[in-house]
This record gives sequence, C-alpha cells and structure tokens, in this order.
Amino acid sequence: MAAKRKKAAKKKRARKKAKTRGYRARRYSREERMRAARVVARLYATYPDVECALTHRDAFELTAATILSAQCTDERVNMVTPELFLRWPTPAALARAELADVEDVVRSTGFFRNKAKSLVGMAERVSEVYGGEIPQAMDDLLTLPGVARKTANVVRGVIWGLAEGVVVDTHVKRISGLLGWTRRTAPEQIERDLIALHPQEVWIDLSHMLIHHGRQVCIARRPRCGECPVANDCPSAGA
Ligand code: SF4
Repeated sequence: MAAKRKKAAKKKRARKKAKTRGYRARRYSREERMRAARVVARLYATYPDVECALTHRDAFELTAATILSAQCTDERVNMVTPELFLRWPTPAALARAELADVEDVVRSTGFFRNKAKSLVGMAERVSEVYGGEIPQAMDDLLTLPGVARKTANVVRGVIWGLAEGVVVDTHVKRISGLLGWTRRTAPEQIERDLIALHPQEVWIDLSHMLIHHGRQVCIARRPRCGECPVANDCPSAGA
C-alpha cells in the first residue's frame, strides 16, 4: 500500500516537473510592461537601500543561511547563524561536524534534521570538490545538497551580482499575483513570467524590494493598500 502511494506521489511530482519545464512565459502588452516598470521605479524610490536580510559575511555563510531560511523567517535564521558560524566557520570545519551537534544548533529553524544534513552535505561537497569555495556557476551550485534554484539565485545575485533569474519566495509569489504580473503558482513558472516582464538589470533588486514590501506594506491577508506606493498600478488595490 505504502509502495503504491509512493509510486503515485512520484508520478505526480514527475508530471508537475514536466509541466513546469514546458511552461512558456506569458506574453505582456506594452501597457503591462509600462505599468510594471512604473511599479519597479516606485519600489526603488521607496526602498532605496534594501538588501538581503540574511546576515552573512561571505558566500559560504549566505549559502548556509539561505538553506536554513526554507519555511523559516530571516529573523529566526539570523538568531541561529552566529553560533553556527562561530562553531564551524568554514566549509572544512562544518564538513567535519557531528550531525547531532548541527541539529541542536539549527533546531529552532524547523525541519532541523533535513537542514542539518543539507548543511553538512553542502560543506562536504564544497570542501571535496570545489576546494573550499562556493562555486559561482549555477550548474555547480545546484549540485550542492540543499541548494535549489532559489538558493542559487540568492547567492549568485547577492555575492557576485550575477542575475540569471529572479528569486521567488512566498512574498514575491504573492505580490506578483496581486500586481497581475503572473497567474501561476509554481515558483519556476512565476520566475519565467517575471523574467519575461522585467529587464535583467532589475532582477536581483526586484526580489529584495518585493520581500521588503511584503513585510512592510503588502502584508499577507492584511495588505495596507491605503499607504501602498504602487497602489495606482496594482489591480488588487483595495480588493
Ligand atoms: S495596492 Fe495593496 S494589494 Fe496591491 S501591492 Fe499595494 S498593498 Fe499589495
């Protein structure tokens, strides 16, 4: 019975993946593009200094912090990482850590067993294959345990200013829908829409600004449309 359920779930995942792979980004009218550009300009004016909220000093720390941020607030991650990096300051040190010790340190971020395993696995691979340095190439990053496209985009964008995509987290997903930029729900499909709608030079900042906007103004279930700087160009304003 369990094997049957497992097989069905595997098939469902494969179907979803195939659907995402085959998705072609939406086509946008000139008017939609102009509206999106106005929103971005207002976000830049409202949040001029916005940056990654995860505390880090280098690519290794940001990779680890981003792994921990899955299903967890940045504030909580920032409470945990000082001890993590004090005890294991380099990939080589973390690769030698006892899994149970890492689990204890990251416990409060949720899914701590998986996250600890990913952290140690990531550190091992970085030490053994990449000479102790987080690799820059997207394909290499994606081989690190616990690193999916979102984490890779965060690290490449924040550390090296490389924009190969748009980071789609829960805020970016929600606000992109409210702004009428996408009708999709799968992060990979939303990312394709955002890439098609916005010029590459704003991809990195766009995520930071939307995440900030989602925390300050366009808050889930209680958006403050009355004080929103992009309300004039938001089809969901006041809805
Ligand atoms: S107008 Fe309202 S729904 Fe639209 S982005 Fe602003 S806060 Fe969110």
